[in-house]
Amino acid sequence: MKKIKWMKRTVSMVLAMACSTSVLLCACDKAPEQTTEDTAWTMPEIQTTETEPAVSKNPKDISPYKAITLDGVREHSVTTEEFCYIEGDKYIILLDRDITIPGDFAANIEQILDEIESQLGISSIPDTYPDCVVNNNSSYYGTGFNPWDGWEIGKKIAIFIVADREPKGYISCADASEALFCEYELFSDELWDSIPEFRDNPWRRNDYIDYSNFAHELTHTVTGRNCSLSHIMTEGIADYMGYSVVKALADKNPVMAEVLKKKNWDEGPIPETVHAENAETIFVADYNTLSMAERGPEYYYGKRLWQFLFEEYGSDAFSKVCAKLQADQVTYDYYSAYDEAAMKKYAEYLKELFGDDVFSRFGNWCVKNNYLQR
Ligand SMILES: [Zn+2]
Repeated sequence: MKKIKWMKRTVSMVLAMACSTSVLLCACDKAPEQTTEDTAWTMPEIQTTETEPAVSKNPKDISPYKAITLDGVREHSVTTEEFCYIEGDKYIILLDRDITIPGDFAANIEQILDEIESQLGISSIPDTYPDCVVNNNSSYYGTGFNPWDGWEIGKKIAIFIVADREPKGYISCADASEALFCEYELFSDELWDSIPEFRDNPWRRNDYIDYSNFAHELTHTVTGRNCSLSHIMTEGIADYMGYSVVKALADKNPVMAEVLKKKNWDEGPIPETVHAENAETIFVADYNTLSMAERGPEYYYGKRLWQFLFEEYGSDAFSKVCAKLQADQVTYDYYSAYDEAAMKKYAEYLKELFGDDVFSRFGNWCVKNNYLQR
């Protein structure tokens, strides 16, 4: 707290000095020429007033929870005993208690966000996206208390890392304003061993942090800030990026190479194989009749659809779709009831951008490559 106040005071003094200097230069420029009466011009006295900085009303600035920094070294992990946060240019990572976070975690998140922006050609903090306050996710903390509730964080992405103490079976999820992660690999060993459902089922925990999950959820956040997509399109692009980001980073980052090697990337089955005749019908139906337990085909279909669009129509395929949806102000809430007319409109957009035969070409491409044929 003291540090923040001191920094603000310093800034206000520097600003005051800058202002004074410009006034001084201004006065010199306009100095009258000396007259024969020799009425000497005297420099005006510089007025300096120290104003008290305004007291911030942002709950973030008066929070008792501290900002922490990591040193970037994977082996130098930190276990949180109290709520705390890590702040970057594009994100703020909000850490629960009892989380063990490796020293390179924030750097990896930054690489993932940069890669998403670069591959999709969109910004994670677009000008069009409004400033946010942190949502109330108190249900995730068991006590009904959310230490970050109401924090004003501008356009930064709120990245929650939570521990599932009860446990309730939380799963990672995301929307345009935030991404929430419940990743067992980040639970401290002490926390893990204190919960029988976890301790007695060690298979639930990988021996690596699955950064493809982070790429998947953060893709939801970044795309959600830029355009509104159908279920197939949104899960598809997130699933595609879950692989594509890790693959792109694997060459320079051994942590990503480990995920690429160890993760099981197999796709599950789909209700009907995809070919030229039914590719558009399936896209329009958006797998809307599947129950929550049957979820999966929209991920596989969508992932292959985006892969096809990138490979056949260029690396700007997503940004083209996104720009078109933005221009037409398309808004679709895929959590609401299925809307066939809206899905048909999405199909029309793809045909307009990539040609009337885009779906039949996609179907043929799937058959040829043996994708979506199980
Ligand atoms: Zn998803």
